[in-house]
Amino acid sequence: VPVVLHGRFARELPELGVPWRAEDAPTPRLLHLADALATELGLDPEWLRSPAGVRFLVGNAVPDGATPVAQAYAGHQFGGFVPRLGDGRALLLGELIGPDDSEWDLHLKGSGRTPFARGGDGLAAVGPMLRELVVSRAMHALGVPTTRSLAVVATGRQVRRETWLPGAVLSRVASSHLRVGTFQYARATGDLDLLRRLADHAIGRHHPEAAADPNPPLALLRAVIDVQASLVAKWMLVGFVHGVMNTDNMTVSGETIDYGPCAFMEAFDPATVYSSIDAGGRYAYGNQPVVAQWNLTRLAEALLPLLDDDRERAVELAVAALDGFRPRYEAAWSSGMRAKLGVSGDVDDAALTPLADELLALMRASRADHTSFFRALVAAARGDAEPARGMVADPDGFDRWVGRWLELTPDAEAMDGVNPVYIPRNHLVEEALAAATDGDGDLDPLRRLLDVVSAPYDERPGLERYAAPAPQGSGPYITYC
Ligand code: AMP
Ligand code: MG
Ligand code: MG
Repeated sequence: VPVVLHGRFARELPELGVPWRAEDAPTPRLLHLADALATELGLDPEWLRSPAGVRFLVGNAVPDGATPVAQAYAGHQFGGFVPRLGDGRALLLGELIGPDDSEWDLHLKGSGRTPFARGGDGLAAVGPMLRELVVSRAMHALGVPTTRSLAVVATGRQVRRETWLPGAVLSRVASSHLRVGTFQYARATGDLDLLRRLADHAIGRHHPEAAADPNPPLALLRAVIDVQASLVAKWMLVGFVHGVMNTDNMTVSGETIDYGPCAFMEAFDPATVYSSIDAGGRYAYGNQPVVAQWNLTRLAEALLPLLDDDRERAVELAVAALDGFRPRYEAAWSSGMRAKLGVSGDVDDAALTPLADELLALMRASRADHTSFFRALVAAARGDAEPARGMVADPDGFDRWVGRWLELTPDAEAMDGVNPVYIPRNHLVEEALAAATDGDGDLDPLRRLLDVVSAPYDERPGLERYAAPAPQGSGPYITYC
């Protein structure tokens, strides 16, 4: 295998990984390879497509010296603490160093049972892995930090869900798979040396500037708060609903992870929930910033013994850091909303904030389609307010709003590059996955959808159906983990 994989995590944090191997895939068949990403990683797409390359992508051919591990982590799932979760159906193959010296985790999902599998079968079905491929591709193209999908390989093994489904392994990369739950796990062992090594590892990989701080673990906490505030603001600005913001699904790097029940919101409504298991709406669209702060509070608790020897002082420091979340989130959101509205930096926040709030109230009252409404505002900035006006329930209120907004002389050209035309709309994702998994499997709709969402701001003729909301009468969209 002509790939060098380092075992940095396995070596520096042996207590947090169980050496393990992927289950044999009977007849591996490559369904998709992200060529551009492979090249970015310094991997040869041609070789990855070869039989040996495909065996590498499912974990059945491991480079000499690599130490694949199932990673241990804990997590709060829907608010309840589970001390031992971990990679039940996933493996960290090792770290790759890209041509630009960047370090990436190469990780498999659906590679078989591990010691963390509990009752699970360790497997993944083709459909959900293709879903992660499409949505993570779109997120990356939208400028949202994310784990990235390198390949999806059908294993030739059937997976038992409600029915038997074809199985797959997703190969993905991320700047790391360190989670809030990784810190919770380390803390729960009571081994402070382990917790300290984990913090140092995270600082080294993601927040090196924290090492120079008088209190590095506190600086790490602040840095994670920063990147997560910025990440969740980006989700909100594109209408992304993660769906399962458990602490084991929140990274320390600030990358989006775990595309299970996620979906893009169409009709604007903060109460939007898609996940079949989120009956209480804990992870509703509008709750995401508050949940992020709650999760970061769990990270702060895990780090407490490192923040100060005096527990009261440690709590004070943690609370002060956590108090930084809200202002950072608001600053990130406001600057993103300013860009979406094409308003220059010379305009005061004091003028912009009420305008943005009123716009959201109008959208909410009208259940306007989030993505197409902002695109319609680009047309309005060019002088044609009719399309946007037609999407709201209160045209007079809209006219008053537009009048005030136009006084700020929005820059339509700038708005073009910020407000996507194409997102992975739920009905289109379902359509592409159904085609890929029915009968012999037609991958063309999937390829077209990937092409479309890979260039989200570039409006192209003939793609109107990719820009339109779900047809009337589609009924509520429901996602499953
Ligand atoms: P998630 O809801 O995807 O964040 O997963 C929560 C936990 O369940 C993690 O520890 C996963 O590794 C584990 N898990 C999910 N699906 C399976 C499966 N099919 N087999 C084994 N473990 C699983
Ligand atoms: Mg997860
Ligand atoms: Mg998942």
